Amino acid sequence: MGDHCGDVKVQLGQMKSLGEDAEKEGVDPEEEMPVSSPSASPDPTGRITTAPGTDALSTNICKQKGKRGSKNPCGKPLQGFPAHAVKNFNSPICDQTLHIKGMGTILQGKTAESNGNYVHESSNTQETRCEDEFKLPRKRRPVTVDTSKAKTSLEALKLSIKELQWKQFHTGRRAACDIYWHGVSFHDNENIVSGQVNKFPGMVEMLRKINLSRAVRTMQELFPEEYDFYPRSWILPEEYQQFFTEIRMVKESDGTESPTFIVKPDGGSQGDGIYLIQDPVDLKLVVGTQAKQAVVQEYIHKPLLIDKLKFDIRLYVLIKSMQPLEIYIAKEGLTRFCTEPYQEPSQKNLSRVFMHLTNYSLNVQSGNYVHSDSQNTGSKRTLSSVLYRLAAKGVDIKRVWSDIIALVIKSVIAVLPDLKVHYQADIPPAKPGPTCFQILGFDILLMKNLKPVLLEVNSNPSMRIEHEQEVAPGVFEYVPSPVDEQVKVGVIRDTLRLMDPFNKKLTATPQPRGGGSDPVEVIPADGDSQGRSPDNADNLPPLCLKQVYPKYTKQFNHLRLVERIAALFIRFLGVKGNMRLGPTAFRTFIRTCKLSNSNLTMASVDILYIDITRRWSFALADSREAGMGLQAFVEAFFNLAGRRFKSLALREQVVSLLDLCESQLGPQSGAEDRRSLSCSRALPRGGRTQALYLPHPRPISPAAHRRATSQDCRPHQRPKPRTLRANVEN
Ligand code: ADP
Repeated sequence: MGDHCGDVKVQLGQMKSLGEDAEKEGVDPEEEMPVSSPSASPDPTGRITTAPGTDALSTNICKQKGKRGSKNPCGKPLQGFPAHAVKNFNSPICDQTLHIKGMGTILQGKTAESNGNYVHESSNTQETRCEDEFKLPRKRRPVTVDTSKAKTSLEALKLSIKELQWKQFHTGRRAACDIYWHGVSFHDNENIVSGQVNKFPGMVEMLRKINLSRAVRTMQELFPEEYDFYPRSWILPEEYQQFFTEIRMVKESDGTESPTFIVKPDGGSQGDGIYLIQDPVDLKLVVGTQAKQAVVQEYIHKPLLIDKLKFDIRLYVLIKSMQPLEIYIAKEGLTRFCTEPYQEPSQKNLSRVFMHLTNYSLNVQSGNYVHSDSQNTGSKRTLSSVLYRLAAKGVDIKRVWSDIIALVIKSVIAVLPDLKVHYQADIPPAKPGPTCFQILGFDILLMKNLKPVLLEVNSNPSMRIEHEQEVAPGVFEYVPSPVDEQVKVGVIRDTLRLMDPFNKKLTATPQPRGGGSDPVEVIPADGDSQGRSPDNADNLPPLCLKQVYPKYTKQFNHLRLVERIAALFIRFLGVKGNMRLGPTAFRTFIRTCKLSNSNLTMASVDILYIDITRRWSFALADSREAGMGLQAFVEAFFNLAGRRFKSLALREQVVSLLDLCESQLGPQSGAEDRRSLSCSRALPRGGRTQALYLPHPRPISPAAHRRATSQDCRPHQRPKPRTLRANVEN
C-alpha cells in the first residue's frame, strides 16, 4: 500500500482483495459486569439513546481527515479524493453519540472511568524512568516509534502518531526506538534488544487454526461448560477416522439428521479454501500428493441475522502484557455482512459463499456489496450500530457484551501457556530483548439465540483504513473508509497511549523472563485504571480500550491451570531457547517431583514419553525439533494425574498433581501462580451454559481417546460429558 491511498489505480484483472477481516465493535461493560456475576441484573430496558456528539473523539477524527485532505465525516470536503469516492462520508459518525444505559458510552461517549497505563521495564527506557517524573513532567522528549516494518498498518499508525505528537521513523533508526511496530510478526526485525514490539513471539503459530483448536480443546476437557463457545472441531488428517465414525453414528441414529461442517485449511485466511460439507466423504483430504492440514468444524447453522443476512463481529483485543496478564478490549468493533440472504445449509446452497461466509475479501467481489456510507448501513458496519439495532428490538445487549468479554478472556487464557513457551525460547532470561504487546482480531459469530461463538483469532488483523473501489469500469482506486478509520485509528492510537514508556502513573509490570511465575501483580484488580486517558488527557479523547483483565481476575483465574503445567515444562526445558523436552529432562521432571513409585516405574515413564512424543510428532508434521512439546507434555501430565488420583475427576486430578509437583519443587515454584490460580476447584459458571451444537452427546476428545487407549496408560476418570441440546432459538 502506498502512502497516498487515493493515488493507486489498478486494472480490473489485477484487482486484489484488501483482505479486510478486521472490524470493530464498541460496547463497554458495566463496572460490575461481565461474567463476574451471573446474577448481575441486566439493564431492564436495554435502552440506547443517541445524543448530539461533538466530543473529543469525533472532533479528532474530523480533524485528521481534514488534514489528510479528505472529506471528513462531519461534512467538510475531502481534498484529493474523487467525489464519488467520498460521497459516503456524510455519515452520522459525527452526528451522534451512542449511549447504552448502564453500560458507559459507545464510540464517542465520555466516561467517568479512568484508564491506566503500565510501564514495561526495558533497558532503553530504564534510565529515563529513573528520573523523577515530577521534575520533568512537561518537556519530555517525544516517544519514538519505528514504523519501517508496519506494512499495511502504516496509514492508521501515522495518523495515530501524529495525534499523539510522537515521532515516527519510517525508515528505521540507528539508535533504539521506544516502540517498534511490526506488520506481521515478532521476527519482522530480528535486531531489537530493547523497547517494545507490537508482536509476541509465537502468536502467529499459536493462532493458526489447528493450534488454536488444540489449545481450546484442552481447556474444553478441563472446563467443558466454560469453553462451550467454540464449535466442535476435528483436526485433519489425523482425526479423520474419528470424525468419519462420529458423523456416521449421528446419521445412523437419526436418519433425518444432516449436520453441516465447515472445512478450513490450517494456514488459510480470508475464506481461502473453505468449503461446507454434509457428508464426510466429501472431504478433500489430499492436495496433490500432500495430506491437507485442516480443521473441520461444526457449522453454526442458525446464526443471528440482520436484514436476512448473516454477519460476524470483528473485535480488537490488546494483550498489553502476558505476565502479568493484561487484556484490553476495544469498545467499538466492526461487523461484516454476507451479501446474499441466508438460508440454512442444504445440498443446494452449500457452495454459495456469499450466503455462508462473512469474509470481506469474498463478499466485496459480489455485485451486492455495499461500501459503507455510514456506520449503520452497508456491508461493513460498526458493532455499536448493530447492537443499537438489537437493543431497539429488546435484546439484552449488556448480556451479549459480557458474554463476548468472557469469550475473549477465556480464549486468551487458552493460548497463553504455549505463548509463554515461545516467549522464553525467543527472549530467554539472560538475553536482552524487548517487551511485547499485541493487537488481536477476534472473529465472533452471534447465534440466533445470541450466544457468541468464536470463529477464529487473527494474530495480524488488517489495520487498513481504505478500501479498493471501482471508480470507472475496470478502474479501481483506494478510497478512505470512514468506518475503518474511525475504529482502527482509535485502536492503534490508544494502544500506543497504553504502551507509552514515559507514563509512570502506575507501577512497572515487567514481563516474564524465562516464563517463570507471575511477579506480584501490582495492577489494581478492581480495574480502576479504566477509561482515564494516561497522557495528554486534555487533548485526547478517552481511551477506546477497556481493561477486562486483571479487572475480572476473580471470575477467570481458576481457568489458568495449564499455565501452571507450562511453568513446570519450562522449568525442565533446560537449554535456553529450547521448546521441547528431551527424554532425560522428562525423567528429571518425574524424579524431581517424586512421581515414580511402584505403579509408575521409570521404565513405564520412558514408555509414556516415547508413546506420546511419537504420536505428537505425527501430529506436528512440520516440526523440525525433536522431543516433547508443551501440548504433548500436557497430555502426559493428564495421564500421570489420572494414574495418581484415580478417584477424582480430571480437573481435580490435574490440580492435585500440580500441587504435588509444586510442593516438591519448593516455595519458588509456581508460588505466585498458585496464589493467583489456586481456585481451580471453583465451580464453572453455570446458568447460561448452552450446548450449541450437534444434538448428540459430546464424544471423548481425540487427545483423551489417545490417553485412554495408550498401551501404557490407564484411562483416567473423565469429566462428566456435557449434554448437548438442540439450540434454543429466540
Ligand atoms: P478465514 O481465516 O479463512 O477467514 P474463518 O474461520 O474466519 O476463516 O472462517 C471464514 C468465515 O466462515 C467466517 O467469517 C464465517 O462467516 C464462516 N464460518 C467459519 N466458521 C464457522 C462455523 N463454525 N459456523 C458457521 N460459520 C462459520
